[in-house]
Amino acid sequence: MFRRCLVCSTPFQPNEELEHFPLGQRVAFDPAKGRLWAVCKACKRWSLAPIEERWEALDELEKLTRDRARLLSQTDNIALLRVGHLELVRVGRADLSEEAWWRYGRELTSRRRRYEKLSLAGTVVAGAVVVGGWASGGITLLGSWFLMGRGGEALTGTARWLRFGGAAWRGTRSCARCGHTFHAVRYGARSGLGLFPTQEPGAVDLVQRCPVCGAYRDGGLHLEGADAERTLRRVLAYHHFSGADERQVFSATRLIQEAGSPQELTRIVVRDGRRLGDLQRTGAVALEIAANEAAEQRLLELELADLEAHWRTEEELAAIVDGELTPLPLLETIRRRVVGGG
Ligand SMILES: [Zn+2]
Ligand SMILES: [Zn+2]
Repeated sequence: MFRRCLVCSTPFQPNEELEHFPLGQRVAFDPAKGRLWAVCKACKRWSLAPIEERWEALDELEKLTRDRARLLSQTDNIALLRVGHLELVRVGRADLSEEAWWRYGRELTSRRRRYEKLSLAGTVVAGAVVVGGWASGGITLLGSWFLMGRGGEALTGTARWLRFGGAAWRGTRSCARCGHTFHAVRYGARSGLGLFPTQEPGAVDLVQRCPVCGAYRDGGLHLEGADAERTLRRVLAYHHFSGADERQVFSATRLIQEAGSPQELTRIVVRDGRRLGDLQRTGAVALEIAANEAAEQRLLELELADLEAHWRTEEELAAIVDGELTPLPLLETIRRRVVGGG
């Protein structure tokens, strides 16, 4: 089989997921028409696999799609899926349910495990300080008790600061009522941050009370649009730095499922305006998942539109190549074999 892009000659990277089509990190296929392409990372063009190499690979791809692939996003014409490091572009509707929420849920639970390791490491370090301190007589019993208890916290606190810094938003805005200038939204003040729904589904405005005149809705700091979205995602990630356990993630994703979409969940949690500090844990975790999903979904939609445009061109070419070079019965055999029936 070919090892390089047929258009720009960039070599395809190997993949470990496909025994019968081991080249390419992104593979496109159309089980109904029996087409198979390797997608080039450099020029984004699709290289059509020789017909005799498609049979087993298409079989394998359909099985992978059914059993192990996770659907990232889909349109009426194509679906983008992922298996390990391999990305699959499947032509035709996959009729799989999107597992996007579970994907982010996994990120939250692994954050939890990292956090626990960090706490443990901190306690061990504090323990060493305590033992050393006792030996040299430089530390009191009370001091060592304090250190032992706080070691984990000190280290996780430092890790959190290193990752996020001190402020979720920086800029210059004035209070509409008294003219006080805001320069930052600090993580430490996140509980008082107000979340208000907007006209756009799933979007929220962030409001911070003015420390000088006390204005909240008719003054204070107002963040909207992309500013608000970015700030909210940072504040929530900070808020849930310790992650969430599986039970919490399960409840949160179920909330989103019951709501019907990340946008609808956001609307339900925020209602007509809530303070972040007043949200219940499950609601807040669901809100973080929803906020990240909505952002990722927008990126995926752009990517999918791009892929769909490529697919239209490449399919036209493939139809010509297959039609001219391949005896039709062979193509029909492949089609039947993969799609089943007939
Ligand atoms: Zn190329
Ligand atoms: Zn003010």
